[in-house]
Amino acid sequence: SHLLERIQQLDGHYNSFITVTGEQALEQAAAADARLAEGNAPALCGVPIAHKDIFCTHGVRTSCGSKMLDNFVPPYDATVVDNFLQAGAVSLGKTNMDEFAMGSSNESSFYGAVKNPWDIERIPGGSSGGSAAAVAAQLVPGTTATDTGGSIRQPAAMTGTTGLKPTYGRVSRWGMIAFASSLDQGGPITRTAEDAALMLSVMASPDNKDSTCLDRPSQDYTANLNDSIQGLKIGVPSEYLGEGLDTQVRERVQEALKEYEKLGAELVEINLPHSKLAVPSYYVIAPAEASANLSRFDGVRYGYRCENPADLRDLYMRSRGEGFGEEVKRRILVGSYALSAGYYDAYYNKAQQVRRLIKQDFVDAFDKVDVIMGPTAPNPAFKLGEKNADPVAMYLEDIYTIATNLAGLPGMSIPCGFARGMPVGLQIIGNYLDEARMLNVAHQFQ
Ligand code: GLN
Repeated sequence: SHLLERIQQLDGHYNSFITVTGEQALEQAAAADARLAEGNAPALCGVPIAHKDIFCTHGVRTSCGSKMLDNFVPPYDATVVDNFLQAGAVSLGKTNMDEFAMGSSNESSFYGAVKNPWDIERIPGGSSGGSAAAVAAQLVPGTTATDTGGSIRQPAAMTGTTGLKPTYGRVSRWGMIAFASSLDQGGPITRTAEDAALMLSVMASPDNKDSTCLDRPSQDYTANLNDSIQGLKIGVPSEYLGEGLDTQVRERVQEALKEYEKLGAELVEINLPHSKLAVPSYYVIAPAEASANLSRFDGVRYGYRCENPADLRDLYMRSRGEGFGEEVKRRILVGSYALSAGYYDAYYNKAQQVRRLIKQDFVDAFDKVDVIMGPTAPNPAFKLGEKNADPVAMYLEDIYTIATNLAGLPGMSIPCGFARGMPVGLQIIGNYLDEARMLNVAHQFQ
């Protein structure tokens, strides 16, 4: 109840929550107290969390940051939500996000922009800006989030928090509203790597309701946190430290790498030669998948419906025209174009071929190194409104995070100091299913 009061007092400044479920939280907390008193408490019994408003919650509005789903109350819980319930966690509500998770600044939300708690004139990153800001403002110790092209790691970097995107398929996508199904992955945002390990241990489970979810048992990700990193080989891609990177961000990252050398790690220069192609291929593949996934919002089955439709065509057109925001419409247009007859081979197929090359770059790199490090984002948090008029400038925010999603690899962002008063994120990319090592490496730095 202390945190609920804090949210009430402070979230007017940050706008990090779309829905606060105060009553339900107090009930869950009372149940957790009872389980604690009985002495058979599960892992996160009584621990407050909040879910990104992209995860379906039984009986609690799940908007995905969109007018389209402003009235949507799911009749079921996402697997991730259910896992936290089983673990005894107490959910305080649903966090703000870019509409349908499309964006890097959390300015495209139907519920208004989220403000960065370090400077409320600046963006908190996106699309999981609410999840990151809520943790940074100490409204809640941990939140769930999703990452399709950087949406966990980039807001973590902007707000000085820790964010982890697992290997594709490690966390169930069931009940997580789909943006780009071959890239979407849920993960935690927390203050420390240790907390991220605790949350990931609950989030990651096999799930036969999601056919892409890996058939691996849950594991305890805290087990290796204190292992020595003596002899660890850290790959530093020269492509991630070049042109376009803010000089102060580069300095912070280089200082962090020096710190790792002191801890006994060895730095190895590597190349990811197809890095430049990650943003262009992502902005074909992600909109293509989005255009297919978002076709279900038609004004018929659920979600927003326009007033007095003249006929079925009018119902579709106005419901979608009025229900979706500008960025979502842009993605649907780009995606439909890339998938259309005559253009499919030139755009979609080509992007898939590039995706394969990007993946191969990482496979080759991981023959030589244990983890890869670089900046999470090219700059610290920018001012609200600064990149709104220029979609391409916004897309370049994810230049260092997108390749990881295309390859399906796990990635983390941890705080590594400040540039011009705003937090900087160090990105750690791990090999497939090597989350435990990533967390160990992050924990040793913190
Ligand atoms: N900023 C990227 C986009 O707008 C990534 C978003 C995400 O990871 N959900 O698509």
